[in-house]
Amino acid sequence: MSAVMKEPQISRPVAQFIGSPKKLLIDGKWLPAVSEATFEVKNPASGATIARAAEGDKLDVDAAVRAARRAFESGPWPAMTPSERSKIVWRIGDLISKYTDELAELESLDNGKPVAVARVADVPLAADIFQYMAGWCTKIEGKTIPLSVLYTPGVQYHSYTRPEPIGVVGQIIPWNFPLLMAAWKLAPALATGCTVVLKVAEETPLTALRLGEIMQEAGLPPGVVNIITGFGETAGAALAAHPGVDKVAFTGSTEVGRLIVQAAARDLKHVSLELGGKSPNIILEDADLDVAIPGAASAIFFNHGQCCCAGSRLYVHERLFDRVVAGVSDQAKTIKLGSGLDPATQMGPMVSEIQRDRVCSYLELGKQEGARAVTGGKAREGSGYFVEPTVFVDTKPGMKIVREEIFGPVVTVTPFVEAGDALVHEANDTIYGLAAGIWTRDVSKAHALAARLKSGTVWINCYNIFDAALPFGGYKQSGWGREMGEAVLDNYLATKAVTISL
Ligand code: NAP
Ligand code: MG
Repeated sequence: MSAVMKEPQISRPVAQFIGSPKKLLIDGKWLPAVSEATFEVKNPASGATIARAAEGDKLDVDAAVRAARRAFESGPWPAMTPSERSKIVWRIGDLISKYTDELAELESLDNGKPVAVARVADVPLAADIFQYMAGWCTKIEGKTIPLSVLYTPGVQYHSYTRPEPIGVVGQIIPWNFPLLMAAWKLAPALATGCTVVLKVAEETPLTALRLGEIMQEAGLPPGVVNIITGFGETAGAALAAHPGVDKVAFTGSTEVGRLIVQAAARDLKHVSLELGGKSPNIILEDADLDVAIPGAASAIFFNHGQCCCAGSRLYVHERLFDRVVAGVSDQAKTIKLGSGLDPATQMGPMVSEIQRDRVCSYLELGKQEGARAVTGGKAREGSGYFVEPTVFVDTKPGMKIVREEIFGPVVTVTPFVEAGDALVHEANDTIYGLAAGIWTRDVSKAHALAARLKSGTVWINCYNIFDAALPFGGYKQSGWGREMGEAVLDNYLATKAVTISL
């Protein structure tokens, strides 16, 4: 693992973007916070301040919610045909693709992830969800429903349903995939005809602000999407509690998810939640280790382990245990840490100092609990918030490093004797239920086990495969509702039943 020596050059479009004051998008205008307060945006590879963003709070949220309400009730947006809306949503995806290099670089600078990864994962997936959802605009249909009850002999009724946009949506997103999380939230809200106030994570506001410009360029009318940068405890909390918001869609930690539900409870707002995970990744005795070992390593180390679905609990058949531990550790040791902007970098820094320290506290805790780090186990010296990819063995089911979401490049590896009830119990023994992995050559075993795992996603002989058409979301305390696919439309639609006496 080599040290970061100097920060690579920033391209001209990105330099220009971060060089201009970063404001809030409210009613189609870029405005400073009412308080005029700003906060630092940092490059986690160096700790340097790269921009200042407007610190929106309650007053700005209120202005944004009012703008979203106006845009929802009147003006061009509700008057548009589904096809007109579809073309705008499609164009947003096109423009994201057009600006791929700039967006990837900006994401890398702000979040720390390798620019090469952002270019092939974050940005194309963000473009895809807009274009997939553009197709839904013209396909949201109701039903005609024959009635059985005879109220008055001879009188017939004609009944039908209208799926309608739920209204003004408050969306709150985290920092691990800043552009992609914004896209997953915005695209279905726009496809269904809702209007939005988006509160982005304080650590990573930049790509969402650039997306705001892109949406304007695509022809989205003013007020349809409003973007607030600021802090969770102020701006986020104000949005979740605002009486003018009909629905809150949140992605983040389970802990904050609970606060969102409490804030939304007063007005009984609709809520959807994408929360944390502690996903089991299971290597059965007949697995192809040439595939399973790199697969298990990437399941945890992708995005520096800052994935809600990270395969952070690896369960390995006892006969393969030593080979898998050695193999995953070898992979961990060869991962090149560095600035995300360096094309040779395979793993960037944690998103922030706080996150680096949080992950390191789990590394210490793991050792205190009696687990052994086969590789890694500490932060890297020097500037930037780097943590060594870590493989823990000698784990026990009750350990905190096995039970709690670390959200860093830290995997626990635990042997099992047979792929029976005890393994299923251990895999499901968590408050979470977001994702799971299975590695085996036996298709029947794979499907049987997939059916028994309590998680919203199961990957077999692969991991971290996402598609705009595939629903994604959690069982248990990993969330309510689904992102992506047809399923996400439910988050943003209300069904109206209309009956007419003929
Ligand atoms: P977080 O602390 O829960 O923050 C998420 C968002 O909520 C941020 O925008 C944050 O604002 C805001 N927030 C914080 N406190 C708030 C409050 N009291 N009221 C309203 N909003 C508030 O999570 P994070 O640390 O940023 O992200 C990591 C977590 O997200 C992990 O647990 C991970 O598993 C989860 N996650 C889940 C998914 C999924 O799809 N299931 C995807 C990605 C991440 P500030 O950051 O600006 O303070
Ligand atoms: Mg935060």
